[in-house]
This record gives sequence, structure tokens and C-alpha cells, in this order.
Amino acid sequence: MSFVRGLQCRECGQGYPKEPLHVCETCFGPLEIVYDYDGIKKAISREKILSRPKSLWRYRELLPIDGEPQAGLYSGFTPLVRAHRLGEALGVKELYIKDDSVNHPTFSYKDRVVSVAISKAIEFGFDTVSCASTGNLANSVAAHAAKAGLNCYVFIPDGLEQGKIIGSAIYGPRTISIKGNYDDVNRLCSEIADKYGWAFVNVNLRPYYAEGAKTHAFEIAEQLGWKLPRHVVVASAGGTILPKLAKAFKELKQVGLIDGGNCKIYSAQASGCAPIVQALKKGTDLISPVKPNTIASSIAIGNPADGYYVLQAVRESGGWGEAVTDEEILDGIKLLARTEGIFTEPAGGTEVAVTKKLIQQGRIPRDESIVISITGNGYKTLEVVARSVEQPFKIQASLSSFDELYLQLAQPAQGKALAGEG
Ligand SMILES: *Cc1c(COP(=O)(O)O)cnc(C)c1O
Ligand SMILES: [Zn+2]
Repeated sequence: MSFVRGLQCRECGQGYPKEPLHVCETCFGPLEIVYDYDGIKKAISREKILSRPKSLWRYRELLPIDGEPQAGLYSGFTPLVRAHRLGEALGVKELYIKDDSVNHPTFSYKDRVVSVAISKAIEFGFDTVSCASTGNLANSVAAHAAKAGLNCYVFIPDGLEQGKIIGSAIYGPRTISIKGNYDDVNRLCSEIADKYGWAFVNVNLRPYYAEGAKTHAFEIAEQLGWKLPRHVVVASAGGTILPKLAKAFKELKQVGLIDGGNCKIYSAQASGCAPIVQALKKGTDLISPVKPNTIASSIAIGNPADGYYVLQAVRESGGWGEAVTDEEILDGIKLLARTEGIFTEPAGGTEVAVTKKLIQQGRIPRDESIVISITGNGYKTLEVVARSVEQPFKIQASLSSFDELYLQLAQPAQGKALAGEG
């Protein structure tokens, strides 16, 4: 049961068969999956989805696999958290966190795209999977490859956080660290993909991979009671997730799962790497590549492959974009932790800080529903925040030592949070 008709060039419309292809031979445009939406509309229903396990595969009719899912059977269906305390801090009425920091098995949104890509790689008969990564993707590909028993090579830029490096190595792939930034890694990987014929999830399997990102949006709508939020803020790196959220919201209407509604989508970037937000603000379609310089390493892509489609999706939805400094990103991480008890990495700090900025600017109204997509987990990037949190008090194992300390502590740490960050 597959509703995939084939691939199609986004630029010239040329059709291609279901194969591990990603660029148009005629115009070099990116290829995209084409579905039989009429068929899907007849096959899918809210009841059917609700009857399935709580994983991203509950939306399988809208995903590009032919047979049964082969990977990521427990990925997706992350919590949509009603964020009362963060909402209060930001001065908004209805705020939610879509928490992909607890995605299974590697704690980022990348478990979605990789579940689909690895399933597809197995269908195509590949025995080796690979990727060009800023960290989270490598973690996810390595984990899913281990579970599926596939050979795995992951390529990362040097200088990543320990949590990201060890968080791949533990699964037993070959990890190759490249002298340079992600854009250097990506360029090399295109050549390797051509020469070695491996399944590079974000190169030759990119059209399939990218579809997995839609499930983030399907879940938001389902978790809101089959409604769209009015505003969603999400980080942009290579530009995969944001346009796919827009596509997913459209598809939900097209196949009759939701009645209507419009959602404005906002791109969040770090000031040290904001090529997409700069183009948005300039009102141009041309993205000028930048050299990344930010603590937000997982979104430090200076030459985003799908940046143009982010611009298109943001503009079409009526959304916008903002960039925030590393300091604002750190404050965003702490604010989320201290109001909602969710520890995110710098990409998530960027998403929180950009939301705060857009609310302050009046771009996002205070009385409409807002979802902040939290795409990664803070336990992978401890060194980024290590110096900006309180160190433990060291005392003797005696009651009197604690009594003495307690008297010194002016007020309990909990109470300080909101006043300090608000
Ligand atoms: C990869 C990633 C993103 C977004 O990347 P896109 O390439 O734009 O889809 C956002 N947050 C985190 C933590 C990521 O790892
Ligand atoms: Zn084309």
C-alpha cells in the first residue's frame, strides 16, 4: 500500500521514478515526492490514525515508503506541552512546546527524518547508510543503522560538542571529522555519495528523508484536537523542516483530516549564522552564504540547501523570521528550563529567544495560539551552559554544615528564575 506516484522536480516539473535520486537531470532543481492525495483521502481517517501506535508511522499514508516501516517504530509522537509558566513570562495567552528534545532514540527532530530515510534505504536494498551532519543527524543515523544492522559512516565538522561526538560513536559507526564547517562536509559528501553509492540520508535520499519532517506538524495538529495553531516558530539550518511543516499543514486539509485554518510560520536563526533571516529581511530570494560563528552548532549551516524554500514557505504563510545573539540563546535555554522544566540545546534556545523577540516586536500577537518547536536536547551540549549555571555548594556530611549553608542562602533558587529572566 503506497500512495507515492513518483518524484518530481520542484522547478521544472519533470517526473522521475521512485529511485534514490535527488536532483533534476535537466535543471538541477530538487526532487520532491508526489502522492495520490485522492487515494489517501479515501484510505485515511482520524479514527484510523488514533487506532495506531503512538509513533510517526501513524501517518504512514502520507510518508514515502512502499511496504511496512523498517526503522523508527518508536520515533515521533513527542509531547505537545501546554507552557503556562513560559507563556506568563513571555506575556502570551496560549503557548505550547512541541518537545522533540525527547524524540526516540536520539533526542532531536532528526529521528523523524532518519526513520523515513532508513526505512527507504532498506527498501532500496542499500547495505551502507551515511550522512553529512552538524551532530544530531549523525547521532540519529548511527542509532537507526545499529538497530537495522546496516553499515554506517557519519561525517561531521570538527569542533562539535562531546555529547554529539560520543552520541554517535557509541552506536559503532565510522565517524569522520572534517577540518572545516558543515558546508565543507556537505560538499565532500556529495562527491562521496556519487563515488561510493551509499545511502546518504540527506543527499541521495533527501526527497524521502525530508518527508519525515512533516510528522512534526501532523502531530501538532492532532494534539491540538485536529486544529492548526496560529503561529509556529522553528529553527532553520539546511531548511528541511520549515517548508515541510507548511506542506504538512496543507496536506492535512487536502486529505480532509482538518477543516481549515492558517498557520504563520517563523524561521529562527542565530545571528552568527542567519543567511535565511537576512534574505527575508532584505526581501530577496537570493541567499548569500555566510561563514558560521555561533554556539548553535546544530543549526550552523552557512549555505542552506533548501533556504529558498524556507523563504517561500515563510512568506506564503504570512510569517517572518528573526535572529538572536549567542547571549540571547543562552538566556532562552535557561528561560525554558526554569519555566517549563525542559532542557534544550542552543537550537532550542534560539527558538525560544526568537519567539520572545517576535512577541516583543508585535509580530506575534499575545492572544493567539503559539507553538515553539523545540528540536534538540540540552544534555548533548552541556559545555555550552556549564559556566552559566550555579555550581554545587560543597559541605561536610553533617546537619550543622547544612544549617550553616541554609542560613547563607538568601532565597531558594526556584523563586529567582522568573524574576531574573522575565
Ligand atoms: C537539524 C536541526 C534543525 C533544523 O534543520 P533543518 O535543516 O532546517 O531542517 C533544528 N534544530 C536542531 C536541533 C537540528 O538538529
Ligand atoms: Zn527540473
